[in-house]
Amino acid sequence: MTENYFQNKTVCVTGAGRGIGQSLTLKLAKLGAKVIAVSKTNEHLKELIAQDNSITPVCVDLADWNATKEAIKPHLPIQLLVNNAAVAILDSFLDVKPEDFDTLFNVNVRSIICISQEIARDLIERKLPGSIVNLSSQASAAALKDHSVYCSTKAAVDGLTRVMALELGPHQIRVNTVQPTVVLTDMGRIGWSDEKKAAGMLSKIPLNRFAEVEDVVDPIIFLLSDKSQMINGVALPIARNISVTAAAEQYYNPELVKLIEENGTKPELALQHMGLTDNDMIIVANTLRGKKVVKKTSRQILASASTLSSNEKEEWTCERCTLLNNVSMNICEACSLSRPLSRLNITNCDAPASTEWGCEQCTLLNKASVTICDACAASRPSPPPSFNVSVFETKDQSQSDDDESNHAQDKPSVIITLNLYWNAIGPIGAQNLAEALKSNNTLTDLSLFSNQIKGDGAIQLADALRYNQTLLTLNLGENGIDDSGGEHLGDALGNNKSLITLNLRNNRIDDKGLQHLAAGLRNNKKLTTLDLESNRIHDEGIQDLANALRSNQTLRILNLGTNGITSTGAQYLAAALETNKVTLRTLKLNGNGIQMKGAHYLAAALKNNNTLLELDLAANHIEDEGIKPLSYALRNNHTLVTLKLEVTQITDDGVRYLADGLCYNKGLQELNLVYNTITKDGAEHLSNSLTHNNTLFTLNLSHTGLGDDGMRALADGLERSKSLSTLHMEYNTIKTEGAKALAGVLRKNNTLTTLNIASNDIGADGTEHIADALKKNKTLTTLNLSGNQIGDSGAQQLSDVLKENNTLTTLNLAACKIEDSGVEYLANALQNNRILATLNLSSNKFKEGGAKHLANALRNNEVMSPSL
Ligand code: NAP
Repeated sequence: MTENYFQNKTVCVTGAGRGIGQSLTLKLAKLGAKVIAVSKTNEHLKELIAQDNSITPVCVDLADWNATKEAIKPHLPIQLLVNNAAVAILDSFLDVKPEDFDTLFNVNVRSIICISQEIARDLIERKLPGSIVNLSSQASAAALKDHSVYCSTKAAVDGLTRVMALELGPHQIRVNTVQPTVVLTDMGRIGWSDEKKAAGMLSKIPLNRFAEVEDVVDPIIFLLSDKSQMINGVALPIARNISVTAAAEQYYNPELVKLIEENGTKPELALQHMGLTDNDMIIVANTLRGKKVVKKTSRQILASASTLSSNEKEEWTCERCTLLNNVSMNICEACSLSRPLSRLNITNCDAPASTEWGCEQCTLLNKASVTICDACAASRPSPPPSFNVSVFETKDQSQSDDDESNHAQDKPSVIITLNLYWNAIGPIGAQNLAEALKSNNTLTDLSLFSNQIKGDGAIQLADALRYNQTLLTLNLGENGIDDSGGEHLGDALGNNKSLITLNLRNNRIDDKGLQHLAAGLRNNKKLTTLDLESNRIHDEGIQDLANALRSNQTLRILNLGTNGITSTGAQYLAAALETNKVTLRTLKLNGNGIQMKGAHYLAAALKNNNTLLELDLAANHIEDEGIKPLSYALRNNHTLVTLKLEVTQITDDGVRYLADGLCYNKGLQELNLVYNTITKDGAEHLSNSLTHNNTLFTLNLSHTGLGDDGMRALADGLERSKSLSTLHMEYNTIKTEGAKALAGVLRKNNTLTTLNIASNDIGADGTEHIADALKKNKTLTTLNLSGNQIGDSGAQQLSDVLKENNTLTTLNLAACKIEDSGVEYLANALQNNRILATLNLSSNKFKEGGAKHLANALRNNEVMSPSL
């Protein structure tokens, strides 16, 4: 841009408080612009001004139309505007709430109209040119899971920008959008901090990284500047996502073949997150059969599609996937590439030179050597010229190699574990795998988690389970499997003699499917784990399952979480447990509709049961009255090791009942009370039980609202506990006094090894108490203080601990507002520490200076470097 272009220009940036907006504001200010920084949170604006006081802050909620107009008026004229503010509220489509829709559209779209109207009207009156940049996103054109409304707002921004460009252009006001890919700002983290999810997205970004804030800021500055004077109405993608369509070239998936060639002799083949489709399963299935995958490049077949007459109805068998097809279909329904070669006019010849042809369907240009349109994967050149078909053949391992040996996989399949999760495998792909499984006798673990094999694919795999007696683990979670799939899998279980673990979570199996699975369990003598979480199971199906459990002798882990089971279903299961014939060790019933009555039935069963080790009742409506019988059961039952009561509407009364039971119980090792409401009274009862109980190892009281007085009440029991090794108190309201009480515990207790007090209100003073106690403590190995405001002074206290303490191996100080000097203290301490293996300092406020100190420390520290 022209030197000094931004000097004395007024630029308005919305959403300036954080992320892209913040960096953009600072950079524009540095370029000499007078920046009006609009944001919602005053604190963020204050932080911004602290960095550059030439910036003018405007604190307003952009969802408020009138307030926004009023707030902007005093700053006119504004020649340059960046509509950057947005919110991301993610939800699955079926759960979208009207209020979230309103917020998203009001902030992401309506505010652009509101603020741009005000600015543009003024510029038009003054006859001044201008430039507006709207922040859109890759999401405007993509389908991203859980982003339905966000994607809609960004599509709206694109549409709005085009019309703004059209109508404001004649007034010399240019309007453009930028469409960034993922940028790991606060917003980016909401959608993409999950590593698996991120990997899926990254695989579509050819540059193979997410964008940095600067990658977005610079193009915006370009669009604002005089270097883009003829650019109007464009949508500029920042790293366009390119995903390969299911076209001809993809069938021979070089990446997949290479992976198989490289790993074909290794026992584990991981092919997750590769966008693998049904076509690819032909290659994978052949590998499992021990056949070679050969790309035939030396022989090319010239075929004319005109030889196929659409009224011929002869059946033909596809060479690739052995499915029967109809001749009027030029392309095999299943593998979408092969064609009935016998019906084609085949001549050996070279490929025609790369003649271009236009696809009828999507009008894209293709090369003649591509038989199917790259883009829409369906059309072919019309009128059909001669075109090339690359044929991929499979060969039995026994057949001799010829000139294609360079493409061959030389060793028979020895794959034991095949991981195919997070791909796009459908029923046909599952069918190919199923066929291969029938003859394969090496594979023991197959994961198809998160594909789309649906009921039909499950039926094929179920059929294979009747023949295959090698597979031990089959993961079919998140595959859209409905009852028909469940029924066939159930029937197959009755005949299968190898499967130990079957994962069917997040499917659509309901009672009918479960009845078949129950019938299968009656005859099955191997299965130890059945995961049916998040299906559509109700009491009716549970009745059959509970009956089957009485005769089954192998099942140890049964996950029925997040279904539609009520107290009646709990009664059926309880009746089975009471017989003591059931071999179950873990029963997960979390997220169902079990109420107090159901808890009564289960408690009655627990009194006599001596097999169950873990019972998960989290997220049911147990309430205090349901806890009462469970507590009595704990007096008699000394087998149960884990009791999960997260989000069960328990208050102090329920805690009192539980505490009474704990005083007599001699088996429970883990108690989870997360997301219940506990105050000082409840804490006092728990404290008392801890002094009597000698078995509890883990107590989880996070998200219970416990504050300083609760912590003080609990401290006595914690100090005297002879068994507790892990205490979770994260997301409570512990402040300095609570931290002081915890410090007392750390001085006296001899069993605690893990203390998690993340996201409380502990500041530097509280940290000082804890640090002081830690200097003498000889048991604690893991301390999580993340999300507390310990700051540099807290970091200094802890660094003193690191110099003296010889037990702490993990210290989590993420998001603790630590700046350069705090990191310097820690880095210095690390040089003398020989025990700390993990130090988490993510999301703090240090810059190059701090990083330099850490780098120095790592050079001298022998233990910690791998995990920092
Ligand atoms: P961010 O870190 O979440 O920051 C959003 C900013 O918008 C914050 O400063 C926030 O204000 C402000 N804001 C939100 N609601 C507001 C309201 N009602 N009134 C006033 N200000 C409000 O977001 P970002 O990642 O920098 O994203 C910036 C833009 O890029 C957005 O339009 C986003 O859709 C787009 N984008 C982001 C990504 C990504 O991966 N991050 C990818 C593509 C496109 P306070 O801080 O004051 O609360």
